[in-house]
Amino acid sequence: MPKRDESFLASVELMFDKAADLVGIADDLRHKIKVCNSTYTVRFGVRLRNKLYTFTGYRSVHSEHREPVKGGIRYSMHADQDEVEALASLMSYKCALVEAPFGGSKGALVIDPNEWESHEIERITRRFTQELAKRSLISPAQNVPAPDMGTGEKEMSWMADEYKRLYPNDLNSWGCVTGKPVSKGGIRGRVEATGRGIQYALQEAFRHPNDIQWAGLDGSLAGKRIVVQGLGNVGYHAAQFLSQEDEAIIVGVIERDGAVVNNDGIDIDGLHKHIHNNGGVKGFEGFTEDTESVLAMDCDIFIPAALEGVITLSNVDDIKANIIIEAANGPVTFSASERLRERNCLIIPDLYANAGGVTVSYFEWVKNLGHIRFGRMQRRQHERQTLDMVSAIEEMVGAKFPAQKLQKIIEGPTELDLVRSGLDDVMREGYQVISAKWNSDARIPDLRTAAMMIAIERIRDSYSSLGI
Ligand code: NAD
Repeated sequence: MPKRDESFLASVELMFDKAADLVGIADDLRHKIKVCNSTYTVRFGVRLRNKLYTFTGYRSVHSEHREPVKGGIRYSMHADQDEVEALASLMSYKCALVEAPFGGSKGALVIDPNEWESHEIERITRRFTQELAKRSLISPAQNVPAPDMGTGEKEMSWMADEYKRLYPNDLNSWGCVTGKPVSKGGIRGRVEATGRGIQYALQEAFRHPNDIQWAGLDGSLAGKRIVVQGLGNVGYHAAQFLSQEDEAIIVGVIERDGAVVNNDGIDIDGLHKHIHNNGGVKGFEGFTEDTESVLAMDCDIFIPAALEGVITLSNVDDIKANIIIEAANGPVTFSASERLRERNCLIIPDLYANAGGVTVSYFEWVKNLGHIRFGRMQRRQHERQTLDMVSAIEEMVGAKFPAQKLQKIIEGPTELDLVRSGLDDVMREGYQVISAKWNSDARIPDLRTAAMMIAIERIRDSYSSLGI
């Protein structure tokens, strides 16, 4: 890991200050928005392998201007208070920017998931859930966790189940976490949502030729050379969709144990399976231990999708990409961001770029509160109405609709169709508002500042209307 320029929290606060200077906001309210409201540290014991292990967990709540507050829980050995507070702050700004009706929160458990068996992680997760529940840090009305680094559907399902046992009378208990499997109240399209959001964000950026030309590129995503760091949930889905559906070429993948390079395009599915079977990228065609050379590779787009603080002043001058889309939270430090802007590298900022996850989490939470799958009521009605229209048209023109086309036309949208449509809409609109803001005022230097300004303005308005 490169040497940090400033702590993660300091980096987010510097970005906040830069944007807040451009927003008309009273100093006292500005301070209130900036600070985290609370951060709990919990330590709890779990008896495993004939020994009592003490685990440390965190849950930070940044802003409760909207409730519930929302944010992932990560399992990582590097988690600490600074990190969860930085991530919780980013969640408040992200939700405000994409109009998800939540405040910001984030949690972490200091653990290396690879050190433990699945049944052990289940016990640890259930105990952690009890600690969170005791402090109202998990609840459909107050605080709704989701997956993040090192956690996924399984952990969310255990959390939801534990919460249900603790509060059997809570009718909305499924809504206490998002990112659950579909069989446990989840929603179709959540697993890939953040990666899908990265794809939609890039597609929208390429619909803004002025922005793309500012970064020295033109045309579409087809043929663009991309390097991805981290082939986990977010990185894998983003790389897969961009290469399969947009004809972009993934020329480099950087992972923990090395990197893979292929100028003709890496087989992302094959590499993903290889990681799953072998625990890393080592042994895959194009493998190299020299990750730094892959970071410095000639490419059009770099997608950091692993962790924070990977581009700092110590390696920023090696980066050749014209566009960096922050799939991870906080991968580019404030100081490195400033340097990249000086040479027209377009940074699509985390608080917008990776908002696909919380957006589809929002849909899942609404589904849980509604107790009904999206599209359930309308689908067959749409089918009948369309068939009536088709038969009227056939009668008028005296010809039959081609059978193959007819099937497509009459089928109403599935839950997955609706989730994708909603996500695409949020990502398109999100880019449009930050790009318009950036381009509207010469004092606004980049997309990140524009995005942060919009978030601050919305939170300011929310606090002001509360009378605080
Ligand atoms: P994940 O655990 O599924 O994947 C992380 C990947 O990064 C793994 O493949 C891991 O091996 C790799 N990695 C770890 N350290 C690395 C290093 N030093 N160099 C290269 N690769 C490394 O996690 P994820 O859910 O994909 O999250 C990744 C990032 O995206 C995090 O910053 C997270 O906060 C952010 N994010 C995730 C979601 C989500 O829905 N999962 C939503 C928004 C933001």
